[in-house]
Amino acid sequence: MADRDGVIWLDGEMVPWREAKTHVLTHTLHYGLGCFEGVRAYNTANGPAIFRLQDHTDRLFRSAHILNMKMPFSKEELNAAQCAAVRENNLDEAYLRPMAFMGSEGMGLRADNLKVHVMVAAWSWPSYMSPEAKEVGIKVRTSSYTRHHVNITMCKAKANGNYINSMLALNEAIASGCEEALLLDNEGYVAEGSGENIFIMRNGILHTPELTSCLEGITRQTILDFAAELNIPVKERRITRDEVYVADEAFFTGTAAEVLPIRELDGRAIGAGKRGPVTEKLQAMYFDAVKGKLPQHSDWLTHIKD
Ligand code: PMP
Repeated sequence: MADRDGVIWLDGEMVPWREAKTHVLTHTLHYGLGCFEGVRAYNTANGPAIFRLQDHTDRLFRSAHILNMKMPFSKEELNAAQCAAVRENNLDEAYLRPMAFMGSEGMGLRADNLKVHVMVAAWSWPSYMSPEAKEVGIKVRTSSYTRHHVNITMCKAKANGNYINSMLALNEAIASGCEEALLLDNEGYVAEGSGENIFIMRNGILHTPELTSCLEGITRQTILDFAAELNIPVKERRITRDEVYVADEAFFTGTAAEVLPIRELDGRAIGAGKRGPVTEKLQAMYFDAVKGKLPQHSDWLTHIKD
């Protein structure tokens, strides 16, 4: 990643990829107080387009607000920076990483002279997991790590430090031969994956946990929008892990993971042990939407123009 051609937007300027560096005393590196986004651009008939750019930028600014970080750029500037990062790296499809972080102007928890810095990188990242995972589904294990509690960290912020919990859970799941972790909240109810929201389909109803301790996923909202269009009833409520065991279908949603079927949780097959029909339908709609094939949702796309 470090040694490659291309450019990264850093504090208002495009800099060569290899020169987009920061000091070892960068405050966020030490204490984790920073926030970021994961955004994707897809190739459409009209060239590359960023999916739900404004929603991601709005969430980045909400995260910064929650963390009390004053953004030194406007939303419009950040949107333009993301378009430029795709365009100037000549990417047709891209994963984008905008991040706001505290600099090395001061050290220690009490530093009061810190500046907020902002970067946007874009690179080609076709598939988050194996390409066949989208069709056959993944194996998941319930994590021994509890998801954040609302009074331990700020769950509505996509904060850098929050991801220690995700990394511990994901590494544990991978070490035990699974592909992803399912984290429960502090009362034992299903929360989310390490970087995804979760849905289950049971008796014709789509269920997803309330947003108490999980991230307000933009893909989650996209799926809720599709469910409304398809007249699929939805319940946002507490879900137990054994409800996932007996669900007809289950899937994860996230910008990186997209719509990812879950075929097994804790060694129990979910439904038929493969991608279910409703998952397949919602997944197909998702890929149509991101690729500009759903005219009713063309407003979700920001085309990269010269
Ligand atoms: N939960 C967590 C913890 C995440 O990191 C992500 C990825 N941003 C999601 C859910 C899904 O959010 P989105 O659909 O906006 O990518």
